[in-house]
Amino acid sequence: MNKKNTLSNPDTNGYYGQFGGAYIPEMLYPNVEELRKNYLKIISSPRFKKESDTLLRDYAGRPTPLYFAQNLSKQFGTNIYLKREDLCHTGAHKINNTIGQILVAIHLKKNRIIAETGAGQHGVATATVCALKGLECIVYMGEKDIERQAPNVARMKMLGATVVPATSGSKTLKDATNEAIRDWINNPTDTHYIIGSVVGPHPYPDMVARFQSVISSEIKNQLHKQAGIKWPTHVIACVGGGSNAAGTFYHFINEKKVKLIAVEAAGCGINTGKSAATTQLGTQGILHGSKSLVMQTKDGQVIEPHSISAGLDYPGIGPLHANLFSSKRASFLSATDNEALAAAFHLAKKEGIIPALESAHALAALSKVKFKKNDHVVVCLSGRGDKDMDTYMKYL
Ligand SMILES: *Cc1c(COP(=O)(O)O)cnc(C)c1O
Repeated sequence: MNKKNTLSNPDTNGYYGQFGGAYIPEMLYPNVEELRKNYLKIISSPRFKKESDTLLRDYAGRPTPLYFAQNLSKQFGTNIYLKREDLCHTGAHKINNTIGQILVAIHLKKNRIIAETGAGQHGVATATVCALKGLECIVYMGEKDIERQAPNVARMKMLGATVVPATSGSKTLKDATNEAIRDWINNPTDTHYIIGSVVGPHPYPDMVARFQSVISSEIKNQLHKQAGIKWPTHVIACVGGGSNAAGTFYHFINEKKVKLIAVEAAGCGINTGKSAATTQLGTQGILHGSKSLVMQTKDGQVIEPHSISAGLDYPGIGPLHANLFSSKRASFLSATDNEALAAAFHLAKKEGIIPALESAHALAALSKVKFKKNDHVVVCLSGRGDKDMDTYMKYL
């Protein structure tokens, strides 16, 4: 294990620079410690690698294509590639992580899986792999989100998961997280808690980044094979908690000539009070068990974020990204709701691909950066737009 912290991996205590760590109630310590002690050993074992490679290939549909977007390239006067995570089983990158964590849970002899979900995408990816592996699956979800995200609730139920409403507080994601943590404290021996992004106490951010790093590992091979080049000049991804961005950046972080561009949701605009651009609005604080940048009031109350895309509607950012931001290794841009909508409609018309609203934020950044003719720009298309058709229909 590396003791020194680097930009891509934390030190032994889970710190990326000054961000990360494990700020958890004492009663949770044995569970997190069991995971911390074992995760690297498990994921580097030949048995795990074989199981995970097979599932990623035959079940999730990897490698996902790296598509040279000829019409966008012509328009922007450069070479633009789309990493097609939208073609993964269940429609987004989230399955890369749930496959990894469920296999870790099985190696740790856990037969009960819990998760929290906001928009329901992580809940669906978790319920999917639990069905495949015959594990009990309990998903905590805010009562308000259950109403707002009915199709995903139906999917989880059809996949055999139990969806438990969180009825306290604002009845949204953070209340669901509290319920999941309470469950884990009460069921320390048979249960694994699957976190859906590069957030949470150490070792979650590092473990999830490693599971998503398959994205940049494939990009590297595919660029080499398809275009004969070793490094892209730019990689671009949207950031909610930051898992698809972590996966897209991972194998490029220590290669300084590759520009990393993270795109946050500006919502109605950064200074409107209805935004989710954490690096622009956040200050150092503790959220979901790690020290990072958090949108909060002066006395530490979390500010409700806003984004048109449910997956970016999060008041924090993973510690890996907080460190990429404060060390200036990555540039953090933002796109408003309207810019994301315009980018989604543009991609649909130009390339025949309907992106998820989250991914549309990454696409919106294309018009905010100056590219040269010989640049090779990779945009992570984190998910497909089927789930967002209700929103898109309002603007047709
Ligand atoms: C959940 C989700 C995101 C945001 O999560 P990250 O952890 O930041 O990747 C982005 N895109 C899609 C399609 C999602 O479902």
